[in-house]
Amino acid sequence: MTTMTGSCLCGGVKYTCNATPVITGNCHCRDCQRSSGSAYAPTLFVPVEALSIHGEVRYFQSIGGSGFKVDRGFCPNCGSPLFAKVEVMPGLISIRAGTLDDPSAYVPSADLFVSQAAPWDHIPDGAMKFDGMPPQSACRPD
Ligand SMILES: [Zn+2]
Ligand SMILES: [Zn+2]
Repeated sequence: MTTMTGSCLCGGVKYTCNATPVITGNCHCRDCQRSSGSAYAPTLFVPVEALSIHGEVRYFQSIGGSGFKVDRGFCPNCGSPLFAKVEVMPGLISIRAGTLDDPSAYVPSADLFVSQAAPWDHIPDGAMKFDGMPPQSACRPD
C-alpha cells in the first residue's frame, strides 16, 4: 500500500490516494495532447474509493476515439488537469502524474496511442508501445 498526495498549480485542489496504481501509462492520443497542451498525458489509474479529493473539480466530457466517454477533471481556478474517468474502466479514476507531490511515485508501464504521437514527441526506445488502447493487463505496473 502506497500513499500518494498531490495538488493542482494553485493548491485549490488537493488529493490523497491510498492505493497502489493498477494501471499506468503515457497516453499520446490527440485528445490528451489537446487537453494537456503537451505531448502526452502521464496517467495512473487507481480505484475510485482509494482517492479522496479536497476542493472543487470541474469535469469536461468528451467522446474518446473508440466511442467511449471520457470525463477529464481540472481545477476551475488554475486550469490544471488532474483526473480522468473513462467509461470503459468503471471503478477506476486516473491521476495526471504531473500533479503528484512526489513525481517519482509514477512509473509508466506502457506508451499508448503512439500512432497519434506528435512528430516532436520523444518516446524511449525501450518503452512498451501500443498504436491504440492496449489490453489492461499490459499496463499493470510491477
Ligand atoms: Zn488550482
Ligand atoms: Zn489519451
